[in-house]
Amino acid sequence: MKTVYSEDHKLRDAQSEIHGGEIVSPFECPRRAEIILGAVQDRGLGEVIAPDDYGLDPVLAVHDRGFVDFLATCAKEWAAAGFAGEALATCWPTRTMGAPHIPEHIDGKIGYYALAAETSITTGTWLAALASKNVALSATDLVLTGAETAAFGLCRPPGHHAAVDQFGGYCFLNNAAIAAEHALSRGKARIAILDVDFHHGNGTQNIFYGRDDVLFLSVHGDPLQAFPYFLGHAEETGTAAGEGFTQNYPLPPGATYELWCAALQEALERVSAFAPDLLIVSLGVDTYERDPISFFKLTHDDFFDYGRRIGSLGLPTVYLMEGGYAVDEIGINTTNVLFGHQDTAG
Ligand SMILES: [Zn+2]
Repeated sequence: MKTVYSEDHKLRDAQSEIHGGEIVSPFECPRRAEIILGAVQDRGLGEVIAPDDYGLDPVLAVHDRGFVDFLATCAKEWAAAGFAGEALATCWPTRTMGAPHIPEHIDGKIGYYALAAETSITTGTWLAALASKNVALSATDLVLTGAETAAFGLCRPPGHHAAVDQFGGYCFLNNAAIAAEHALSRGKARIAILDVDFHHGNGTQNIFYGRDDVLFLSVHGDPLQAFPYFLGHAEETGTAAGEGFTQNYPLPPGATYELWCAALQEALERVSAFAPDLLIVSLGVDTYERDPISFFKLTHDDFFDYGRRIGSLGLPTVYLMEGGYAVDEIGINTTNVLFGHQDTAG
């Protein structure tokens, strides 16, 4: 299996994250991608190639123009406002406020576009986010052109929390959604997105909630107990034409592989019945038993096993990297999924 990777992920090197009432060194750090790349190379998964540049059009096919402009200029506006630290949102429209106007001051504007406060925006963030979506699109094209039956986009920063006009949860552009929309624009009719990250893919759900051409399935920590807290319940199944094309599988703290895998099997049956032209897997490995910010109990071997299960569907498949914060073991867990897939795809 080929891996698409860009050195430009290193431009996303934030120093601050709000966690447990403290400013800490971000869990989502450059070393994550380096460890994964090292495992891909050391274990001989396949060739590693650089992405092509797809420009902004595929981004604007998914995200709001004002949001995109905000991401591109936020760090500069923040510095121009005289703030010494990294750009962090501290105030946004809450349940009782609404948002009739987008604030002009960057301190208000960042709140308007933020879905949470933990994620800072830094000088290199925008360029890294652009490179990450190029990685996703290049990996997708490897499969769309028929050159490969499966490919791995080593995306960083991740994307699945980014909504039409919101960033947060370490995500800025929704790589999986951009890839899905791109595949549709290239003549594919049905795309399935399977999100196996520990956290609910609220951004992806938001983007496709009213659509019947993209099936979205997510197995994740119950939002009553886990970020992003306000989306990802089982009763959210889509709206209008999209009714029945979203399915969430929230699981409780301490969930073992037996429970997780039963949910995955249900999701895989939904994928099979949908018969998509392309399967996109939002691959987060923060389901690992020693992940520092999550609460599932998957082991190294479980990642291999579920890769086999996904591969046995026999679908054209693109894996796009999302979360995973047990950094020393992120390489083995990620490549175990990909080797599991290869084990069945022959
Ligand atoms: Zn996650």
